[in-house]
Amino acid sequence: MLDRLLTGVSPEIGRILEAALDKRELTVRDASLLLSAEGADFFALLRAADLARSEDNGDDVSFVVTRNINFTNVCYVGCTFCGFARHRDEADAYDHPLEVLLEKARDAVARGATELCIQGGIHPNKDHHHYRDILLAIKREFPGLHLHAFSPEEIDFGHRKSGMDLRDYLRWLSDAGLGTIPGTAAEILDDSVRAIVSPRKLRTARWIEIIKAAHAVGLRSTSTLMYGHIESVEQVAAHLNLLREIQKETGGFTEFVPLGFIHERNILFNHMNARPGASMPEDLRMIAVARLFLRPWISNVQMSWVKMGPKLAQMALLAGANDFGGTLMEESISRESGSHFGENLPAHEIRRLVRAVGRTRVERSTTYRILRRFDDPAEDPPSLEPEPPRELSGPARWRLASSS
Ligand code: SF4
Repeated sequence: MLDRLLTGVSPEIGRILEAALDKRELTVRDASLLLSAEGADFFALLRAADLARSEDNGDDVSFVVTRNINFTNVCYVGCTFCGFARHRDEADAYDHPLEVLLEKARDAVARGATELCIQGGIHPNKDHHHYRDILLAIKREFPGLHLHAFSPEEIDFGHRKSGMDLRDYLRWLSDAGLGTIPGTAAEILDDSVRAIVSPRKLRTARWIEIIKAAHAVGLRSTSTLMYGHIESVEQVAAHLNLLREIQKETGGFTEFVPLGFIHERNILFNHMNARPGASMPEDLRMIAVARLFLRPWISNVQMSWVKMGPKLAQMALLAGANDFGGTLMEESISRESGSHFGENLPAHEIRRLVRAVGRTRVERSTTYRILRRFDDPAEDPPSLEPEPPRELSGPARWRLASSS
């Protein structure tokens, strides 16, 4: 009877999945084939990735209580997938002074944050001192808060302005309180794709140089990839291989986070014939292949609830993901491109979603140190979030009005 569950799985996919479950390293070609799996192969892929996840991470699903802070949306780099950047003369352009950033940090701490994720546009009037001033100001008031900040694009910009040696520049930021860096600005690490999606952003070799230098001075980073636009499965597989090779050399990546392309409001989809983001099977294949291809080098695979939405995020937990990412509190980069899944997913809501798929909820630090386990739902702490206003409709309107 159980044999029937494997009926239709192609011999080649079966061989690759078996190799992955035996912890043998997959090739780039293997990853390309898995990224195209359909039908019985697709379901076998998800099952194998879920099995590998349980071997690698057990039943824990981690999350971090964090707040995103985008200190400016002024940016002229002109990435074609971006819906966030503004010209400084636009009415909704902003460039927050330090006092506003501190206010946001205070609010985050009151809501239980252990981390701030700080990124912004490349504002032409700023320089390396601006990045350091942000770190110093926040650390002065909140020395215990982890600052996860500045993409390789921002590091590149600040470094070029500074005239310093790259490692010295990174140490200078680290001394001011930088804890880890986001491995964003990666998109697809293939210059033929970058020439279309981010023609004026740093090239692949520079991204690698910055990430390796950060790891060398003790600044760990995430690793990311943006999929669902113009890339091929071969380019995705080569990108994963590049990350795996860096990890073998430095061990500096904390996790891998695949980021689905949000298409609605940008040039890349509306004027350049990109695909309208990933389909549901592509999202799940991406998570599953990352799990199998990156093991044992990168064992944390995070899904993005902002890109996928909470229900598909739950499904991703059954397809190889072990990390739910962060609460975010204030997300605008995906929202400005057209994402509909909100800006904030409070910790109690993440715990509810994880519990619904039968897994153990764990709050972690940025670097995956376990801060708190939530084994017994009856002992879940009260929410620290302000109660959101509820807009009721239907009979709720008159029944509640008459009973109050
Ligand atoms: S993705 Fe970043 S660097 Fe590119 S245009 Fe948008 S804000 Fe600027």
